[in-house]
Amino acid sequence: MKEKKEKAFCWKTLKRAAGYLSGEAHGIFALTLVTALLNAVYPYAGILLSAEILTQLSSPARDREHILFLAALLVVINFVGRRLLDFCGQFLDVRMYTVMKHIERDVAAKAWRMDYAMSADPKLNETKQRIIRWAYDRGVLALVWQIREIFQACVTMGISVALAAEFLGALVPGEGRAARLLNHPGSVLLFLGLFALSIAYGLYTSARTQKAFCEADERLVKYSNQMIHLTDSCFEDYQNGKDIRLFQGAEMILRNLRANKEAWTRGSQEIYRYNRRMTSLSLLVGRLFHLAVYLFVGLKAIYGAFGVGSILKYTGVVTQLGDGITQFCDSIREFLQNFQYVKVYFDYLDMPDFTAAGELPVTEQIRENYEFEFRHVSYTYPGAASPSLRDISCRFRRGEKIAAVGRNGSGKTTFIKLLCRLCEPQEGEILLNGVDIRRYDYIQYLELFSTVFQDYQIFAFRLGENVAAESEYDRERAVKALEDAGFGERLAAMPQGLDTWLFKNFSEEGVELSGGESQKVAIARCLYKDAAFVVLDEPTAALDPVAEADIYQRMNQFTLDKGAIYISHRLSSCHFCDRILVFEQGRIVEQGTHESLIAAEGLYRRLWDAQAKYYV
Ligand code: ADP
Repeated sequence: MKEKKEKAFCWKTLKRAAGYLSGEAHGIFALTLVTALLNAVYPYAGILLSAEILTQLSSPARDREHILFLAALLVVINFVGRRLLDFCGQFLDVRMYTVMKHIERDVAAKAWRMDYAMSADPKLNETKQRIIRWAYDRGVLALVWQIREIFQACVTMGISVALAAEFLGALVPGEGRAARLLNHPGSVLLFLGLFALSIAYGLYTSARTQKAFCEADERLVKYSNQMIHLTDSCFEDYQNGKDIRLFQGAEMILRNLRANKEAWTRGSQEIYRYNRRMTSLSLLVGRLFHLAVYLFVGLKAIYGAFGVGSILKYTGVVTQLGDGITQFCDSIREFLQNFQYVKVYFDYLDMPDFTAAGELPVTEQIRENYEFEFRHVSYTYPGAASPSLRDISCRFRRGEKIAAVGRNGSGKTTFIKLLCRLCEPQEGEILLNGVDIRRYDYIQYLELFSTVFQDYQIFAFRLGENVAAESEYDRERAVKALEDAGFGERLAAMPQGLDTWLFKNFSEEGVELSGGESQKVAIARCLYKDAAFVVLDEPTAALDPVAEADIYQRMNQFTLDKGAIYISHRLSSCHFCDRILVFEQGRIVEQGTHESLIAAEGLYRRLWDAQAKYYV
């Protein structure tokens, strides 16, 4: 019963994989089958024509013209066949490469559709990395070449069996000892037995080697992952060059890289040594069997069962049959084993999108008059040992300016992430006008927020696209947003204006922005969106004091009739807020106005005093 269920599952997965592959690259299977057919038939053209030429050459009544014709045909078939095979192979490679890129795209797109919190899950990141790394060798795409191998092996076996039957049926004429011995069914059985043994041994060694390779891959994956991480994060982003130079970190990185590479190389050498040993043994057994084949075929030919040309044909056929059977068994085994990787891929794609997409509309009325409430909310990041937020309760509504202050790591950004539905609380609930925020339509809910996060992202696209976060946008509004964000002068100095490329990824003329300038572009994006609620998570950390004061003034204007939350380490920029939430170790430990918190002489007072001495 269980077996039946698993089999049905396999077929379902296979059907899905086939649908996925042909959807991503039309005609990929037709091309695969044609390539397999050509690959299988091609060697026989050579074997049969060469055998025929040899037969003709050794015949007393040889026809020179016919031999020349056969030789020319052999050359033409060799040339055309090779070209055709190359052409199909390259065509298939291009298709497979396309699918591989689509797999990478789908993995990334899926990650963006999932809950943001999942992006912090180390296990999920490992799965994503593996899918991308395997893309060609294992998983959905590997099915293409596995199917090609299976089909090719079937055709090879079909042709070989037909020709091998002809060989085994060819009897030595006469009644002599040689004829009795070579025609005896025992000889045929002995020959078939040796044949089966050599194939079984080949299969055994290849199964052992493949298993050893899979185990080694599991063992070595952490080293290759670390090497990829080191090269990606330390070498590819040129911005890291500053720290690497100033802290002379190159040696540390190279040492790490070397250590990983050495561990990886040691493990790999071990497995390759094992592979060499196994392959040599299986090669030796294979060659010994070939010797037996030549002996058997040669003896039959010597005693007149067939002509000299057929020696070439039958030895070739038996070799092809052996290769075909080995290829068939190997690829069937790989094909079945590969399903676990196909499953990893589809399981990943099937993971739920935003867990609480919701259906309630966020109406104009809500946007005009909203109130958020956190009720006993706690949150722990995936894989983290302890909660980042504990039992948070607070309320704020349109028109209120809230400040969130506290030491680093006290949970302020996490609080914002929960509010923006980037993460979902494990305990408690967050309400918008008395309704759990998870019940609202996700996209409409996100439209409530204009945000600037600490780690805002500026894309290597055009300036205007960065401000509007889309390619078609209102240029006047984008210019106004940039001016309001304090970027006006810089914009005026850009000959291409909004069409200026940022960074050099896509254009040689791309402009590098300073930290402060990038932050202004991020603020402009927040202003352009013009949402009902504004979230600023340390939006001015990279700005000089004059620019900061200027931005706060403009922001106050901008958020006049909206709600806003500011996170800032400079308490002086928060004291104008209606209410201040003081975070400490994931809890709100105090809340109130600046004056009341100063009077309370608690944590806020201590933080304030610590900063105040610098202002004095
Ligand atoms: P703040 O904004 O007050 O500096 P955060 O909200 O960023 O603090 O972080 C609160 C706590 O959560 C910190 O201890 C931090 O290490 C932890 N944290 C933040 N992001 C993650 C994450 N993606 N995975 C695990 N822990 C995290």
